[in-house]
Amino acid sequence: MTLSKSLYTRAIQCKKALWLKKYNPNVLAPPDETALAVFETGNRVGDLACQLFPHGKEVPYSKNYDEMIATTRQWIDDEISNIYEATFNFSGILVMVDILTISEDGEVSIYEVKSSTDVKEIYLHDVSIQYFVLQNLGFKIKSANVVHINNNYIRGDKLDIDELFTIVDVTSEIEDLQSNIPTLLSEFETYLNDRENEPKIDIGKHCNTPYECDAKEYCWKVQRQISDYSIFNIFNLGSKKQIELYSRGIVNIGDIPPDFELTALQSQAVENYKSQTTFIDKERIGEFIENLTYPLYHLDFETYQQAIPEYKGIKPFEQIPFQYSLHIEYADGTLEHKEYLSQDGIDSRYELAHRLCEDIPKDVMVLAYNMSFEKGVIKRLASLFPELEEHLLAINENTQDLMIPFQKKWYVTPTMQRSYSIKYVLPALVPEFEKAYKELDGVQNGSQAMNAFANMSDMEEGKKQKMRKALLKYCKLDTLAMVKVLGRLKEEIQR
Ligand code: SF4
Repeated sequence: MTLSKSLYTRAIQCKKALWLKKYNPNVLAPPDETALAVFETGNRVGDLACQLFPHGKEVPYSKNYDEMIATTRQWIDDEISNIYEATFNFSGILVMVDILTISEDGEVSIYEVKSSTDVKEIYLHDVSIQYFVLQNLGFKIKSANVVHINNNYIRGDKLDIDELFTIVDVTSEIEDLQSNIPTLLSEFETYLNDRENEPKIDIGKHCNTPYECDAKEYCWKVQRQISDYSIFNIFNLGSKKQIELYSRGIVNIGDIPPDFELTALQSQAVENYKSQTTFIDKERIGEFIENLTYPLYHLDFETYQQAIPEYKGIKPFEQIPFQYSLHIEYADGTLEHKEYLSQDGIDSRYELAHRLCEDIPKDVMVLAYNMSFEKGVIKRLASLFPELEEHLLAINENTQDLMIPFQKKWYVTPTMQRSYSIKYVLPALVPEFEKAYKELDGVQNGSQAMNAFANMSDMEEGKKQKMRKALLKYCKLDTLAMVKVLGRLKEEIQR
């Protein structure tokens, strides 16, 4: 058996996922933009973490792993004390150690770098297989560690990598896992020895934990024929009940037996779905609409995050606003549009906050969808810029949430799948906008917007300008969608 450490952790999640990766990779979904962005962030964080153990040497990547192993061996013999991507093979198990430190007495320490903000259980398996390989190759291991991002760090004038990273010694947890590794490896080998027969492993919670499996489309849709409207996603049923229903052979909402124990909200959801009716509480929606004052400022922010903060005062993974769109709706229905999009490669938070205060007076009503996000962004800006604080906090004070009628279930249609996310609400209320988003060129959703802006500094000028236009169009559509959703609510109560 040949196994890399990523295949090992994949097999820890699901043996079928290992088998598919080896023998039927065509059924696996390719990584999407978000996954690629996470991967890219991981690389940059990994490179930076090497500076925690400076003056080391990085083993150049080669498809010929024997070369990497030989280089590692040579450098250990040469008494290089810090080796990045140190590569080893024991009995077909290939591992690359992010950072290997070797002390004068020959003892080694393993450092696995992660761009997350804590130590997840799966990381322990990741490190444990490295420990297993090195120990079996005869190394004396001093410690095994996970290096992750410290999300309490606030960047000063300069980046302080000792503060940015947290090193957690996981040696004792790793040692506890060692005794079980031979059993696991022999189990994986049994599955891999049978090339012809895919493992008979059913779907379940493990398909999403610790990672969303890239075989979900195949196992769930192709093999198990789970539809888009199933017990798994129609509403927040909880995985225990989902598995209970699934183990009884029930997948479709319509097949849930009447005596199956559900909360009042879940029962209402099932009934709503079964009867395919739309529920509208005109009275409550009417009250919501009456409380709105005009001109009404429909606001939406786009934000991005930096694992490694580039600007002073930023924490790792803090939501950094770079764009907003504002549709101002007057009482007679006329609309005015304002927008802001930062230049890339600079800290434009002050400029954005300043423009926001210019565009939104202190005493007007602002509408956001899921306002806790917009209010969180504004509150952070207020804390950063004291001269704008009063104005920004007044904007926050005057903000109302368009999500309320949907969150409180005053407006429910079967196609909303019990969700009040704009992703479901918009196609249910304003179906033509689904098409409008699909027709956008380059940026069609929030993650694409985030990735586009985060990568903009690396784009050549032509592509950058195209992407800026795409971002402006996308964000403008978001606030126009809010105007349309509100318009639909108004129409409903007048019927
Ligand atoms: S989708 Fe689920 S059952 Fe299928 S390979 Fe992935 S984890 Fe295993």
